[in-house]
Amino acid sequence: MNQKGQFSLRLIQKCPVCNQDFSTGRIQILDEENNSFLAYLTCANCRSSILVRVMTLPHGLVGNAILTDLNSEEVISFSEEEQINSNDVLFIYDYLAKKGDFIERLKQL
Ligand SMILES: [Zn+2]
Repeated sequence: MNQKGQFSLRLIQKCPVCNQDFSTGRIQILDEENNSFLAYLTCANCRSSILVRVMTLPHGLVGNAILTDLNSEEVISFSEEEQINSNDVLFIYDYLAKKGDFIERLKQL
């Protein structure tokens, strides 16, 4: 995630799109781990959705937020996907290297 995509937690208290206070919006906790959680916020005013990952570190809370057009169910299904590993990359590389109509091959996947 790049710097522009990041808001401080303080900013997340207000909608980055319309400035509405998020306390009137909807907050769902999608995922919780030992020292971090993933929250999905929906602005009550403009319906913008913001995905927030907050981590608890020794010096305090650190949060990343991104605007998203995914709904919360989609976010959950993405976060449950396995991470891409080098075998996947090699598989695609191999796949692309083979001759044939690439689009047709994609349809067969
Ligand atoms: Zn808003």
